[in-house]
Amino acid sequence: MIRLTIPHIDNHDVDQVENVLRSGYLVQGIYVEKFEKLVKEFVDVSHAVATSNCTASLQVALMSIGVESGDIIIVPAYSWISTANVIELCGAKPFFVDIDPKTFNICIDKLEIALKYLKNTSGKVKAIIPVHTFGLMANMHEIISLAKKYELYVIEDAACAIGASIEEKHAGTWGDAGCFSFHPRKIITTGEGGMIVTNQNDIDLQSRILRNHGQYFEKGIVDFVRPGFNFRMTDFQGALGCSQMEKLDSLLEHRIASAFIYNELFGDFGDLVETPYVPCEYKHVYQSYVVKIKNIESNNILDIISSIKKKGVEVGVGTINMPMTSYYRKKYNYSYQDFPNTAMVSQKTIALPVFCGISESQQREIVKCVVQCVEGNA
Ligand SMILES: *Cc1c(COP(=O)(O)O)cnc(C)c1O
Repeated sequence: MIRLTIPHIDNHDVDQVENVLRSGYLVQGIYVEKFEKLVKEFVDVSHAVATSNCTASLQVALMSIGVESGDIIIVPAYSWISTANVIELCGAKPFFVDIDPKTFNICIDKLEIALKYLKNTSGKVKAIIPVHTFGLMANMHEIISLAKKYELYVIEDAACAIGASIEEKHAGTWGDAGCFSFHPRKIITTGEGGMIVTNQNDIDLQSRILRNHGQYFEKGIVDFVRPGFNFRMTDFQGALGCSQMEKLDSLLEHRIASAFIYNELFGDFGDLVETPYVPCEYKHVYQSYVVKIKNIESNNILDIISSIKKKGVEVGVGTINMPMTSYYRKKYNYSYQDFPNTAMVSQKTIALPVFCGISESQQREIVKCVVQCVEGNA
């Protein structure tokens, strides 16, 4: 079986983790601090706050900007479910916006329509969470300008996008805060892990307080200034993060190189398969390499996925049509027609294996399987 993804863990990673395990200092300490410094320097931002995972980072980021019960937060309909869940968990309401099928990211025209509509309703729109789906950034120029116009915060869900950029400005640094994930399916991993980055002192301070029980030190005295979580990262994860950061540039290069190989291999099959679109000046980091199958009957995608798997290639769906999951569909009464592009994309997309170390011959094999299965089903 060619795996969908394999985290890149080498001896250096293992040694770094082992050193911390043997040191006797296991929870958030000097390695977490060092990992924060490395990420902050890499993306070029003034603060970074490590947490136990990116879902925790997103929730802390929302609470740091004061999201509370009754607020409305705008999110794209197509993302991993935690992008919407964190909003509900703050007592706020997600307002889903359909995506642009070309980029898989929030559709700017529909975002603008939503903002105009919401201006005349009673709820208070507080923030937008753009998602940089599969490692391609959302159109941040437009999102930031709309956020300014409507006086909204922007929290970037950059879970898949460490290293991605627009005009060389990194994902996570465009909005008020950005959140990265270090889950094994992401670009670098600490097992579970997340990080909030921001240029704002107050978001940094509130995030530090919220991840650690609401604790705040003043003049050496401990106090608890608001109810907080225990969302700390362990120090051995921090050490793994530091070790992973050393190879981030090369991991990114490998991913991008494998994506180019796929693009080339699919070149002859343009009538069957559509390869990822990358706008000019955008750096896509291919956390997932996701293709669209053309001319497919609806509901066939799962059949195609299982027939590719039977040939020994682990493939998966892109991501989730969030408003169509049972919780959101029942609570807010959505139907497929409300988010037609998300519905269409969900029926057509397949994520193919990408990881550091995938060989060109494996990629040839994968493309062959995909083409055979698509032709068989078409
Ligand atoms: C993976 C992912 C998350 C959640 O990250 P965890 O670290 O697993 O909590 C959130 N949003 C998106 C878009 C993701 O892909």
